[in-house]
Amino acid sequence: MTQSQDQLALVKERIARAANKAGRKQIEVTLIAVSKTFEAEDIIPILDAGHRVFGENRVQEAQKKWPELRQKYQGIELHLIGPLQSNKVSEAVQLFDVIQTVDRPKLVAALAKEIKTQAASTKLLVQVNTGRESQKAGVLPEELGQIMDLCREQLASHMQGFMCIPPVEDEPRPHFRMLKDMAQTYQLPMVSMGMSSDFETAIEEGATCVRVGSAIFGTRPKIIAG
Ligand SMILES: *Cc1c(COP(=O)(O)O)cnc(C)c1O
Repeated sequence: MTQSQDQLALVKERIARAANKAGRKQIEVTLIAVSKTFEAEDIIPILDAGHRVFGENRVQEAQKKWPELRQKYQGIELHLIGPLQSNKVSEAVQLFDVIQTVDRPKLVAALAKEIKTQAASTKLLVQVNTGRESQKAGVLPEELGQIMDLCREQLASHMQGFMCIPPVEDEPRPHFRMLKDMAQTYQLPMVSMGMSSDFETAIEEGATCVRVGSAIFGTRPKIIAG
């Protein structure tokens, strides 16, 4: 086994243990292996280990790596977990199975149009800025009702849930709890929360997807992190 394959196995074990501790089943939690900044040669061992669900934060970077990997490996599911610019919507709908960063009315409209044009089955999550950080993407909690109205009108069956990235300096648990409550309020199945440093807490609080990068692939160059 390569080092990253070992680390993948370890992360899966930790997910199983956290799920078990929370009285949940392991299959209720999807592990998204976040491969941003890593090259195809780093991703291949994880694919060879049988893993198929990956996250990327930039459309252009993902376009360089994934079409080729998709030809070699069946059943890949790709998640966009970084901000989406309106002029990249067409490429994003082509490439990604799940877009987790819906965060403004203009993007809702652009996605609705493009998903219809491509007859795509893209799943969508609204990113919520639970920590109300001015530099961070995502809708503010009090704006959620408004964007959900638009989503329901324009994207009904595609809207699957919520995603958050708590402020690094905060205890993450209250943020996770807030996101889970929102999913319950809107009766949506997907709750994407928890990263390398806090995915066990997220699982205790009801995460259905955890996004884990460095605990699998190792540390990233600092400038591109986040
Ligand atoms: C990079 C990134 C992750 C993974 O972070 P790690 O700390 O390396 O696990 C998760 N979610 C988002 C949105 C990211 O950009």
